[in-house]
Amino acid sequence: MLRALLLENPHNDADEILSRAGFEVVRHPGALEEEELVAELDGVDVLGVRSGTQVTERVLEARPDLLAVGVFGIGTNQVDLRAAARHGIAVFNAPFSNTRSVVELAVGEIIALTRRLTVRDKALHGGTWDKTATGSREVRGKTLGIIGYGNIGTQLSVVAEALGMRVVFYDTAEKLALGNARRMGSLAELLAVADVVTLHVDGRAGNAGMFGRRQFEQMKHGAAFLNLSRGFVVDYGVLREKILDGSISGAAVDVFPDEPRRNGEPFESELRNLPNVILTPHVGGSTQEAQENIGHFVAGKLASYARAGSSDLSVNLPRLTLPPSDAARYRIAFVHRNTPGVLALVNQTFAEHGANIEGQILGTLGEIGYVITDIGSELPAEAVAAVEEMEDTIRLRVLR
Ligand code: NAD
Repeated sequence: MLRALLLENPHNDADEILSRAGFEVVRHPGALEEEELVAELDGVDVLGVRSGTQVTERVLEARPDLLAVGVFGIGTNQVDLRAAARHGIAVFNAPFSNTRSVVELAVGEIIALTRRLTVRDKALHGGTWDKTATGSREVRGKTLGIIGYGNIGTQLSVVAEALGMRVVFYDTAEKLALGNARRMGSLAELLAVADVVTLHVDGRAGNAGMFGRRQFEQMKHGAAFLNLSRGFVVDYGVLREKILDGSISGAAVDVFPDEPRRNGEPFESELRNLPNVILTPHVGGSTQEAQENIGHFVAGKLASYARAGSSDLSVNLPRLTLPPSDAARYRIAFVHRNTPGVLALVNQTFAEHGANIEGQILGTLGEIGYVITDIGSELPAEAVAAVEEMEDTIRLRVLR
């Protein structure tokens, strides 16, 4: 029986999915430090973590037989992905299980900023009745400028149109425009027309500081601004200045360059205590539904990698799925160093031992290659041993 160790309390449904795939599931409620983790990994085939556990090279070296690591979240910075790949350990995450949650927060904030809701709310909590329409607007007919038209940007595009907004977007990659959304040829073009600008770019290093003085000054006077992507993408000092001089009418910010690591820790930002500025502690994706989706998604990926060798959406191995075949008696999942001739040698070895290949798929990613092979005949133990002994073999698993 395979063994799964789940740290940091991913959604309970993960246990059921893994149990159905033949895992014994063990849980540990908190994150583990390096030494504790190494000790706990003894006999474990699959490790599940969230953001608090560092899966370092040292951890992976101490348990090279580990099959896979499931990150029950989006970011994978806490896992040494290259070291994992070198050991043939697949890493999975949940890249779009909280997309809808982020979109709903953005929609709520777009309306709240356009109606200056927090300003009215604060005044009334402070005991001041200030009934006015000044500065309060509908979102209907306004132009939403989406920067980064990926999972979140496209979902937001659809929902915003349903509210009657016009949508324009800018993305550095070629993207299909959904509904009536219009692609802008440049960021400047988008900023010139958008009443609300919202950032949904990814966290690649080149995006550091991509939204600064120049971009704020290209925005329409009185437009609103949202950042629910990554903190280091925006110059918040300039945003503060633009809020205070009134050229930006409001902002919603969920992500910061320096975020406290634990609840209760103090939070410092130049954006605190500004009018019509909504600050949230990186909760864009934090909903009960997203947690459940993440639990299902990651546990499902771990189960199908363990049982069928499917590396679909792995973040560090070539992504392969070989559909099941009735004619296959064995499936071989083979991770190897990506050098010329490995596949030919493997297939020659199988042929020499009379193992007949029914289906096969190969993918490579940098220095790593991965092959799934279905064998329709007997599979002599010598054939498996011969492939295991090849110089470039990292890991070979015989499934079923
Ligand atoms: P994604 O990878 O699907 O989409 C990102 C898009 O941005 C891609 O289409 C890419 O081509 C585009 N892009 C990258 N750099 C660009 C640039 N400089 N200009 C224009 N386009 C650019 O990512 P996603 O799942 O939609 O997530 C978007 C962002 O939201 C990420 O930064 C992610 O970390 C963040 N996120 C935040 C929360 C939260 O809790 N606030 C939750 C989930 C995701």
